[in-house]
Amino acid sequence: MRHRRSVLLLLIAIVSSAWVRAEMPAPPKSCVFCEIAAGRLEPELVVYRDELVLAFMDIAPGNPGHVLVVPAVHADDIVAVPAATAQRMIVVAQCIARAIRRTELRAEGFNFILNAGRAAGQTVFHAHLHVVPRYDGDSGGHGDKPRRRLPSDELAPVAAKIRAAVGDELAVAPVAR
Ligand code: 5GP
Ligand code: ZN
Repeated sequence: MRHRRSVLLLLIAIVSSAWVRAEMPAPPKSCVFCEIAAGRLEPELVVYRDELVLAFMDIAPGNPGHVLVVPAVHADDIVAVPAATAQRMIVVAQCIARAIRRTELRAEGFNFILNAGRAAGQTVFHAHLHVVPRYDGDSGGHGDKPRRRLPSDELAPVAAKIRAAVGDELAVAPVAR
């Protein structure tokens, strides 16, 4: 009798763990932003990192200093990002914008852009928040003009300046945990 109960409990455990696994969407097999988050790709372009999010240079900037803030753990788009991480993404984007203002880029404004889903223009399916520096009368931004993929060695010096400015910014106003 006791043996039958143990077998039954074991069966329930197996079925429920398979159920939980089926409910959790697996990250895609290859995701370029997961590779960056893991430090395997473009480490020289990363300007900020904490336990929930990271920020790095967009490879095809709308304007110099175009940064992407992304969750460290894969989520297809902002709708799927856990609330605490979504909040951190916004706060870090503010910090990046303030930091960019400290650099010689001297941004006059910013576009904070979130594209969620193919129909909305999303092309990389790991959630990301664009921070795009803007200037009066420029033709920059995201999607306003054709953008060119830049070599990493052209972007790395800009990344280094923003990273240093983020460090200064965090010393003045640490991102709340
Ligand atoms: P979306 O159109 O999905 O909102 O924006 C995706 C962004 O990711 C684009 O602005 C694109 O330039 C950028 N991107 C695509 N592939 C890479 C990459 O391999 N590295 C970096 N740093 N940015 C990328
Ligand atoms: Zn990913």
